Amino acid sequence: MASDVNPFESLQEQIDDAAEYLPYSTDVLERLKHPERVVETNLSVEMDDGSVEVFRAYRSQFNGDRGPYKGGIRYHPQVSRDEVKALSGWMVYKCAAVNVPYGGGKGGVEIDPDDYSDAELERITRSFAKELRPFIGADRDIPAPDVNTGQREMNWIKDTYETLENTTEPGVITGKAPDSGGSAGRVEATGRSVMLTTREAFDYLGKDITDATVAVQGYGNAGSVAAKLIEDLGASVVAVSDSSGAVYDPDGLDTRAAKDHKDETGSLSGFEGATGTLTNEELLTMDVDVLVPAALENAIDREIAPDVQADIVVEAANGPLTPDADDILTKRDVSVFPDILANAGGVTVSYFEWVQNRQRFSWTEQRVNEELERVITEAFGDLIETYENTDAPSLRTAMYVVAIKRVVDAAEQGGIWP
Ligand code: GLU
Repeated sequence: MASDVNPFESLQEQIDDAAEYLPYSTDVLERLKHPERVVETNLSVEMDDGSVEVFRAYRSQFNGDRGPYKGGIRYHPQVSRDEVKALSGWMVYKCAAVNVPYGGGKGGVEIDPDDYSDAELERITRSFAKELRPFIGADRDIPAPDVNTGQREMNWIKDTYETLENTTEPGVITGKAPDSGGSAGRVEATGRSVMLTTREAFDYLGKDITDATVAVQGYGNAGSVAAKLIEDLGASVVAVSDSSGAVYDPDGLDTRAAKDHKDETGSLSGFEGATGTLTNEELLTMDVDVLVPAALENAIDREIAPDVQADIVVEAANGPLTPDADDILTKRDVSVFPDILANAGGVTVSYFEWVQNRQRFSWTEQRVNEELERVITEAFGDLIETYENTDAPSLRTAMYVVAIKRVVDAAEQGGIWP
C-alpha cells in the first residue's frame, strides 16, 4: 500500500486539477492550497499510575472565508501535521460543495485510544480542550467528532470550554449527546449522505439499486450506517470489513447483525452471519457494483486501483483514493463520487445542530433528515450540472470546481486586508 502518499500533497493536487477549469490566477490559487494557521501543542497528561505522558496534538484552521472554521478531531496513531492540514482543507471544500456557511478546520491527537483507560482519555481530551480554548468558539472554530471520537469526547470538550469561559455555549462544538445539546440524526448523518449519494448516483446513471451488490471497507460510524441504509434501499451488501479483516456472503449480509456483533465483541471477526472471510485488499477488488471505502486515507492506491472491479465508488472516508488511483479509475470509466459530497452529511447535520444550539430550539429527526436530503440532492445537482457543462474529467474535479468558486467568491467579496 502506498500509505507513504502525503494527504496534504493529494489535496493540493486536487485543487490544481480543478484550477484548470477555473479562471483564477496562481496567487489566488496559492491561498486555497495552504492553511491560514496550524496550532501544534504537546499535552502533558497524568496517567492512572501517576506517570506523565506527552501527546502531540494539532488544530489546523485552513480557510475562514465562508464562515467559522469547522471540522472534526481525530484520535489516531497516524495523526500528523500534514494529515490534519489535508483534512482541514477537505473540510473547506466539503462545506462549500454542499453550501453550508462554514470554512474548514481539523484537529487530531497522535494516540491509539485503545491503549488508554476512560479516565486517561477524559484527561487527555480536557487537556486538549484547554489548549484549544483561545482558538475555538461558536463563531470562531467549531470542532466535531472524527475517527475514534464521538459524543463522549464532544461532551467533555463542551464542558471544559463552558467551565473555563463561565458560560453555556453548546454551539462551540457539534456531535454532542442529545442531552448535552446534540442533534437528532447526527450520529447517522455521514452514513445517510453516503446512502443519498449512492441513490442519486444510481438514478443519474440509469441503474436499478435493487439489483446492486455493495462492498463496504470500514465499519465505524460512517461505514456501518452507510451499509445499513444502502441495504434498506434494496441493494445487497455482500462484504464489509474492519481492521480485523472482511466478512462476506454472496447472498447479502445482515448489516445490522454485523454491527451488533462488532459492538459486542469489538470487531467483525467471528461474525456468524457470513459465509466466508476475506482480506481488506480482497474486499477492495471484489466484483461488486458499488465500493464504499469508509476507513482512512490512501485505502486505494495505484497498486490496487487497476484491480478494482466496482463500477461505482462512493467515498465515505476522507481521501480514500490517492491521486494516482483516482486517475487510474477515471481512465477506466469508474464513477467515483467524491468524499466532499458523499460524506458531507456529517458536517451538514453539525450545521443543523449549531443552528439549533443558537436558537435554543430542537428539531425533530424527521426535519433533520428532510433538510439533509435537500442539501445533498441539491449539491448532487450542482455537481452533475458542472460535470456536464465543463470538460472536467472526473466527478471529483467537477465538485472542486463548484466548491472552489464559492470560496473564491466569498474571499473576493471580503477583499484582502491589510
Ligand atoms: N469529521 C466529519 C467530517 O470529516 C464531520 C465534521 C463536522 O461535523 O464538523 O466531515
